[in-house]
Amino acid sequence: PVLRVAIMGLGGYANRVAEAMQSCVRAKLVGVISGTPGKITTWQSKFNIPEKNCYNYENFDKIKDNADIDVVYVITPNALHHDQVIRVANAGKHVICEKPMALNAKEGKEMVDACKKNNVKLLVGYRMHFEPKTLEIIKMRKNGDFGKVMFFQGLCGFKIGDPSQWRLNKKLAGGGSLMDIGIYAVNGARYMVGEEPTWITAQETKTNPVVFKEGVDETIQFQMGFPSGAVASCLSTYNMNYLDKFFLTGEKGFAELQPSTGYGPIKGRTNKGELTHPHLTHQTVQMDEMAQIILEGKQPVVPVDGEEAVKDMKIMDAIYLAASTGKKINLKG
Ligand code: NAD
Repeated sequence: PVLRVAIMGLGGYANRVAEAMQSCVRAKLVGVISGTPGKITTWQSKFNIPEKNCYNYENFDKIKDNADIDVVYVITPNALHHDQVIRVANAGKHVICEKPMALNAKEGKEMVDACKKNNVKLLVGYRMHFEPKTLEIIKMRKNGDFGKVMFFQGLCGFKIGDPSQWRLNKKLAGGGSLMDIGIYAVNGARYMVGEEPTWITAQETKTNPVVFKEGVDETIQFQMGFPSGAVASCLSTYNMNYLDKFFLTGEKGFAELQPSTGYGPIKGRTNKGELTHPHLTHQTVQMDEMAQIILEGKQPVVPVDGEEAVKDMKIMDAIYLAASTGKKINLKG
């Protein structure tokens, strides 16, 4: 069976996903939801989408009655994810939601609950969870190749452009760099170390309060401690380029990914040498894998479900709290 997907929000990333899905064997783009009629017609002709699978933000609850759509992939600004995902769930369709799943853990939990109640699946667009070099390092770590894990470093950032974009609007983005790019270090620390952090410290620095307004973080550094004693040191920024690196060291070896989370090719090496897995378009692999998760109940190596995403939101809540109070935040299990 093929997973029949409708995309909600026809912006930059949605375009990338739609293009990548053309190479999928298990997933197919069949519908769109957009507030811009002109975009709908462009997408209809480009991707051969029938009129009956096109919706807008007012009428998309009617997707409930559309037997030709299995899942809605929400690719809108962060602040909209919560309500849109819940509406899709209430319409009885599975949901894939882009990262960050929501603005905070409370919202994320509500989304998980709504999907449970409606008996639909909720997955979050963590494309790195399917990336071959990343998975190889996780496999080596599980296999003990690096020995006891001691330290993770995650550096995630880029210089953001246009100051008028939604990513710099607290209402739509929910924050700044951490919500957008720093989340990769949060999420990456968890899958690279293989544990959940028990404490967080964080510091925020802002050089440009005009572009990065109140509540929109420009740069945040954060540290995490794990039950085994391993520690992590991470940087999230909208004001520096060439930051896309993961580094893991253990008592017997190390792993490095650089670039670590960009669209690829990802480059990886360990103390045993270069990783040579071929580059596959992340979004193609993600959608083919998600089709199997949704339709066949396949268990991914690194989970991509809503509960998994709530774990990241809890950590991000703690990072913002630590940064604003200067306090060390303890997390329960
Ligand atoms: P974008 O600005 O290119 O697209 C956003 C789309 O949402 C636009 O088409 C816009 O018209 C639409 N939209 C609907 N309602 C809106 C409203 N009220 N205000 C503003 N826009 C509205 O952004 P994007 O880069 O496509 O990001 C969308 C989501 O995808 C974000 O949550 C982002 O974090 C995520 N994303 C994920 C990845 C990834 O690698 N997984 C990459 C890029 C973006």
